[in-house]
Amino acid sequence: MTSVVVVGSGFTGFECARQLARKMARHAKKTGASVDITIISPVDYMLYTPLLPDVAGGLVDARFVAIPLANALTGVQAIRGRVDEVDFDGRTVTFTDPEERVRSLAWDRLVLTPGSVTRLFDITGLAEHARGLKSPAEALYLRDHVLQQLELADVDDDAGRAEARRTVVVVGASYSGTELAVQLRALADSAARQMDFDPAEVKFVLLDLAEQVMPEVGEKLGAAAQRVLKSRGIDVRLGVTLAEVHPEHVVLSDDSLIRTHTVAWVTGVTGAPLIEKLGLPTERGRLKVTTELQVPGHPDVFGAGDAAAVPDVTQPGEITPPTAQHATRQGKALARNVAASLGYGKAKPYKHRNMGLVVDLGPRYAVANPLNVQLSGFPAKVVTRVYHIYAIPRFVNRWAVSLAYLTDVFFDRSVVSFGLSTQEDARFATSEGIPMPKPD
Ligand SMILES: Cc1cc2nc3c(=O)[nH]c(=O)nc-3n(C[C@H](O)[C@H](O)[C@H](O)COP(=O)(O)OP(=O)(O)OC[C@H]3O[C@@H](n4cnc5c(N)ncnc54)[C@H](O)[C@@H]3O)c2cc1C
Repeated sequence: MTSVVVVGSGFTGFECARQLARKMARHAKKTGASVDITIISPVDYMLYTPLLPDVAGGLVDARFVAIPLANALTGVQAIRGRVDEVDFDGRTVTFTDPEERVRSLAWDRLVLTPGSVTRLFDITGLAEHARGLKSPAEALYLRDHVLQQLELADVDDDAGRAEARRTVVVVGASYSGTELAVQLRALADSAARQMDFDPAEVKFVLLDLAEQVMPEVGEKLGAAAQRVLKSRGIDVRLGVTLAEVHPEHVVLSDDSLIRTHTVAWVTGVTGAPLIEKLGLPTERGRLKVTTELQVPGHPDVFGAGDAAAVPDVTQPGEITPPTAQHATRQGKALARNVAASLGYGKAKPYKHRNMGLVVDLGPRYAVANPLNVQLSGFPAKVVTRVYHIYAIPRFVNRWAVSLAYLTDVFFDRSVVSFGLSTQEDARFATSEGIPMPKPD
């Protein structure tokens, strides 16, 4: 039987497997020819990343932003494993399962959608002491860690150290870093009310090398976002970044020092480590593919999403940005083109015009530019929440997230830290699968 193997269960792989299974089921009804579809991923879910800041802020439970493959991918076999190698001549992938057993699987069509990981720089102490926001482990760690530091600060008899415990540094003022800062601020405000301390004692610093907050939403909405951040007491410092990270302080590129025990690094992503290992041409760390999402010279291998440099036909010379909006649509395009390669339907180039962005800025505020209509404040908040609830690809998750939002209107967020995601679990390498540098 013909087999299709999809690598990675993010927005792209999930959507590709889901749509392909539906298409091939229709094809099988007509022709009787069936196709085996397998998705291999280290996790058994598709993660709805746009709500990770809400998980870190204690607003939404981590399970609500994870779509179980077992429930959502009818007709697709899901295998847990990390693909380590691809043999393009022998048409096999080699993967390591959760018990570290090495296994292999044959394919007739291969779909490479392993996504991205946090981009790290050679900054002293960054990997050891900072934590990212790309996985549930990282989001849960940040929530628990912030709460734990506030609790420890409450009883710390060293005033300087207590202040450091109450200081949170977020690096990266694009939409995800900004959303993280406002959600952690809301969590700290909730904790202050329940633990009876002045919320102004908790300091937030948001850093970025750029000269504007959230350049993705344009100057007007970026300025509106910056005003909201200021009104929430978030100290925005632009044109600077981290120079050194230490357990109890950071040094910035302008030589200033901030005492802190919490550093979140949310500055952008790079292609998944697997891409580099394939020995195929790349562009800006992403796998080169054609507008039909095929790997040049390998007509049976496809790629898309954050892992691939997909040409943007609406802006010649550019590649599509790493966003969920593109990833989902590329997943659909992959399904169509893979099905076409198996004799069902016709392949088409990938084309999608950016439909704008929604950015949740915490209690009662958001900015959004759907179809280029610039919105801020409460109308943007409604659009943002409705959009996410619509975009989550499973009813039960939509229901649970809606109830979490409703609960937040009437009640304070829970100040509990189970500590199930430790500092070690939340390391970039452990939680996102970035290989550790080899010792010299
Ligand atoms: C905090 C945050 C907020 C965001 N907010 C937004 C937003 O509001 N709007 C928006 O448009 N975009 C947003 N994004 C970007 C969006 O999440 C990505 O563009 C999208 O996830 C890309 O989908 P993908 O399927 O290509 O990759 P991913 O979602 O990264 O999925 C990759 C999958 O591949 C798996 N994988 C990795 N390596 C291997 C391997 N070797 N073998 C097998 N499987 C592997 C991973 O475990 C994962 O399941 C946000 C991202 C983050 C981190």
